[in-house]
Amino acid sequence: MSTIFSQIVAGEIPARIVYEDETTIAFLDANPLAPGHTLVIPKDEYERLNDVPDDVAADLYETVHHMVPVVEDAVDADATTVAFNNGEEAGQEVPHVHCHIVPRFEGDGGGPIHAVAGDRPDLDDDELDDIAADIESSA
Ligand code: AMP
Repeated sequence: MSTIFSQIVAGEIPARIVYEDETTIAFLDANPLAPGHTLVIPKDEYERLNDVPDDVAADLYETVHHMVPVVEDAVDADATTVAFNNGEEAGQEVPHVHCHIVPRFEGDGGGPIHAVAGDRPDLDDDELDDIAADIESSA
């Protein structure tokens, strides 16, 4: 079964497509958090960032990098929040990797990326060292 975003890629359902190349596509979010809220996706269907092959990840980032200033300029934004909901528990609803480019404006009432997490953990130095070592060992 293909995702709603694959249906956009295939031209089966309408979208306001603002950029397209061989492997990626960008279109306006149907329920924008701000004017210009844009989604960038790989055309091929991968559920999470973790599933995206290296070459597609590079293409995806290149398109995000290209589109951020284009979107900001188009809606005269002061800044952007650029983020992936990577997995259901992180709020991902559409199981097809997508990067949100959300234009931000002075006094827009929004918050920083720090506002998305729940209660902050209380970690001591040893715990932080262990976590860093675990991550580093598989990086
Ligand atoms: P997420 O919660 O990260 O999976 O976000 C999914 C996003 O896709 C939401 O912001 C929706 O508003 C957006 N969305 C869902 N269906 C469509 C659609 N057909 N066209 C454009 N955006 C969509």
